[in-house]
Amino acid sequence: MKTMKVLLEDHEIPRQWYNIQADLPTPMRPPLHPATGKPVGPEDLAPIFPMNLIEQEVSTERWIDIPEEVLEKYLIWRPTPLCRARNFEKLLNAPVKIYYKMEGNSPAGSHKPNTAIPQAYYNKIAGIKHLSTETGAGQWGSALSMACQMFGLGCRVFMVKVSYEQKPYRRMMMNVWGAECIPSPSNLTEAGRNVLAEHPDSPGSLGIAISEAIEDAIAHPQAKYSLGSVLNHVMLHQTIIGLEAQKQMAKIGVYPDVVMGCAGGGSNFAGISLPYVRDKIHGKDVKIVGAEPTSCPTLTRGPFAYDFGDLAKKTPLLPMHTLGHDYVPAPIHAGGLRYHGMAPIVSHLVMDNLVEARAYHQIDTFEAGVMWARSEGFIPAPETCHVIAAVVDEARRAKEEGKEKVILFNWSGHGMVDLASYDAYLTGKLIPYEMPDEEIARALRAIEGFPKP
Ligand SMILES: *Cc1c(COP(=O)(O)O)cnc(C)c1O
Repeated sequence: MKTMKVLLEDHEIPRQWYNIQADLPTPMRPPLHPATGKPVGPEDLAPIFPMNLIEQEVSTERWIDIPEEVLEKYLIWRPTPLCRARNFEKLLNAPVKIYYKMEGNSPAGSHKPNTAIPQAYYNKIAGIKHLSTETGAGQWGSALSMACQMFGLGCRVFMVKVSYEQKPYRRMMMNVWGAECIPSPSNLTEAGRNVLAEHPDSPGSLGIAISEAIEDAIAHPQAKYSLGSVLNHVMLHQTIIGLEAQKQMAKIGVYPDVVMGCAGGGSNFAGISLPYVRDKIHGKDVKIVGAEPTSCPTLTRGPFAYDFGDLAKKTPLLPMHTLGHDYVPAPIHAGGLRYHGMAPIVSHLVMDNLVEARAYHQIDTFEAGVMWARSEGFIPAPETCHVIAAVVDEARRAKEEGKEKVILFNWSGHGMVDLASYDAYLTGKLIPYEMPDEEIARALRAIEGFPKP
């Protein structure tokens, strides 16, 4: 029989996460304190994160043990299958073998529980009772709601208003898991009130929602803040994806020529690719590609610079590719991945030429997603459609070059709660939007005069 998927038994689940910081050829620039311009220390982060997660954030240990309590929750749906997309391959008619990690089978429907669960766990054992967070389309908010419920924590989610109104189902998921979901900008925080005073009709942005969630966490004793992407400890937790993939590919004696993921804040891309970046650092010939939207081209058009993670400048200055912290996504973009910054780890790897980035229009991404659904069945999340567009592109290149290639990519989540975006695509309401140069120049004025990395 032909191999369609490679499974790991429960007992084969990786028991440690991989920390790329132990293997980087050049050291990462530190986050800076905005007032002093000096590197931030663990104590600067203590008001918003518990110390055990701060330790992971700055750790340079190569392997970090996954606690038993976290493994027990992972085992609800992990190890995830490594699948071969034979039907999609047939459709593409190119000399490629396509494997993907199925992260859409988690209870929340994406890779995000891989970090939500350990974050809730570490907060719990640090004595925290409540987490505040932000969410865009609701994937992260729903994953953290579930994780908080599993560990008996309260959870409040500030959801970007335009998504709150257009995508009610993830709010309902959060409510089912016992969390509170508030449209952002809200009048619960000073950050939200300031935006509303100037722009009463603001559609919201992730930058605004992060400010609200941080302010909310700081204002409540025994509450902390939680972030679903971007930070080093989030990338760390997501490496379970790539570590499983390596075990699975070894079982069938295959090694990928290309590893791909879509990149919003960078966590699912880092999750599948960091173990392969390690191989590449040690001489392996593997291409690693992140796919992002042309409407939010952080890696492909944003400079590598120090910038805030949020609009109200409550985070440290992070060294990352950025479009400027006051970036507000064009409301005509339906595909997600709309954060102004990119994980410092992913940004650093782009600088060091260990990974590369490509940008795709939303029409191309939904076209690829529909091709996938019509051949492989599963309906991908709009974010996932970006990496599928990149796979189509890579297959076309392989055909032109007449070269056989093995592609591995991360199928980051399903689109069952995002069907309104597919509807917009199928009824011709989407346009191929590209962020204009003037808008990038305007947005980047927000970081003028900041320290340079
Ligand atoms: C959140 C999300 C992404 C983007 O976030 P990253 O941190 O870049 O991974 C991609 N795909 C899905 C399905 C998501 O929910």
